[in-house]
Amino acid sequence: MKPDPYDLGLDGLEAVLDDQPAYRARQMWAWLQRGVHDPQAMTDLPKPLRQRLAATFAPSPEVTRQSTADGGLTRKVLLQYADGEAVESVLMLYPKNGRRDHARATVCVSSQAGCALACPFCATGQAGLRRQLTFGEVARQVTVMQRLLAGPVELPAGCPPQVTNVVFMGMGEPLSNLDVTLRAVRWLATPTEAGGFGLSARSLTVSTVGLVPGIARLARLKLPITLAVSLHAPNDELRDHLVPVNRHFPLAQLLTAVQRYQATTGRRVTIEYILIAGVNDALEHAAELARRVAALKAHVNLIPMNPTPGIAWTAPSVQRQRAFARVLDEQGVAATIRHNRGGDIDAACGQLYADYALASGRMLRVDRDAGQRAEVVRR
Ligand code: SAH
Repeated sequence: MKPDPYDLGLDGLEAVLDDQPAYRARQMWAWLQRGVHDPQAMTDLPKPLRQRLAATFAPSPEVTRQSTADGGLTRKVLLQYADGEAVESVLMLYPKNGRRDHARATVCVSSQAGCALACPFCATGQAGLRRQLTFGEVARQVTVMQRLLAGPVELPAGCPPQVTNVVFMGMGEPLSNLDVTLRAVRWLATPTEAGGFGLSARSLTVSTVGLVPGIARLARLKLPITLAVSLHAPNDELRDHLVPVNRHFPLAQLLTAVQRYQATTGRRVTIEYILIAGVNDALEHAAELARRVAALKAHVNLIPMNPTPGIAWTAPSVQRQRAFARVLDEQGVAATIRHNRGGDIDAACGQLYADYALASGRMLRVDRDAGQRAEVVRR
C-alpha cells in the first residue's frame, strides 16, 4: 500500500525526498497543513516532482458530502476513505460579537469509524466499531476545515480565517485509539515552525467515556488540554446502563483518575452529563451528581439529549433542565446547559453516524427496546 504523507510526518517526508533540496519536504508539509492534499496543486514544487509525489503517496480521502446549518455557522463534512469507510466532522463557527471578543472556529473530529462502546443514546454506538482511524485520517479532518475557512466559501461576518479549537467529540472513543489521539494532540499543539498545526494546548479538548488507563497516559503528556468526561449518571447502577464500559471502570475508579489528571495538569476537568427525560434527569440525580463531583471543582456541561434515529429517548423540558442545573448550582457545582449546534443536519452530539447505510449497504438497527429500557433504568 502507498504511504500517507501525514502518517510519515515531516521527518518521513524528508527521508522520501532525500535527493531534493532540504526545503522541499517543508514546502510539501506546509501545503498539507493548509489542507491542500493533492501534490498536483502544490504550485511551488517543480512539476516533475509534483508528478512523482502524486505517484508515490496514497490518494487523499474525498469530501463526499457537505451540509450547512445555523445560518452557515455549522458545517458538517463527510470524509470517505479509499476502503469505503467514512467519518463525519463538524465545523462550528462563533463569530466575534458584542459578547465574544475572540472569534472561534472549532472542529469536532472523529477518532474512529464507528464505536465499540455501545452507549444506548448515541447514534455512532449503534453501528459498532468499523475500524480505527490513522493519524493522517484524523489530521485531515482539521486541515480540510482549515482550507474551507481560507477558501472561496462565503462565511458569515466576524468568523476567524483559520481553525482555533479542536474537540475530540465526533464519532468514536479517542482513548480507544490512544496512540493516534496522543499523536494528533501533540501535532495540533506543536508550533508550525516545528511542523505542527500551531494551536495552543488550551484550545484542545479530548472527550472520553472514562477509560482510566488512557486518562493516565493523557496526563503524562503534561499538556494543558481540557479533558471532558462523559459521566451521564451519578451512580454505578444507572451508569452501567448508559455507559456500559462503566462495568470495567466504575465511577469511584474513574473519579480518582480524573482527580489525578487535575493534580498533574492543573487543568479543570469538564464533566458531561446528557439529560434524558425520565432516565437520568430527576432532581435526586442532580443532588447525587453534585455530591459525587463537588470535590473535583469540575465544570458540568448539561447536554439535552439530541434526538437520533431509532432511539426513543428525548430531552427533558427546558423547565426540567433548568431545575436540574439549579440543584447543582445550589450545591456549589458550576453547571451550564449546552445549546446544540447542527441539530437539523444531524451534526449535533451523538448524531454522527456517517450514513453507514450508504457506505456499506447496512441499515442502522432500530432500537425498539429503548423506551422499555428507560422504564427499567428509572426504577
Ligand atoms: N466517545 C467520547 C466522544 C464522543 S461523543 C465520549 O463519549 O465522550 C461526545 C459527547 O456527546 C459525549 O459526551 C456523548 O456522550 C454525547 N452524546 C452522545 N450521544 C448523544 C445524544 N444523542 N445527545 C446528546 N449528547 C450525546
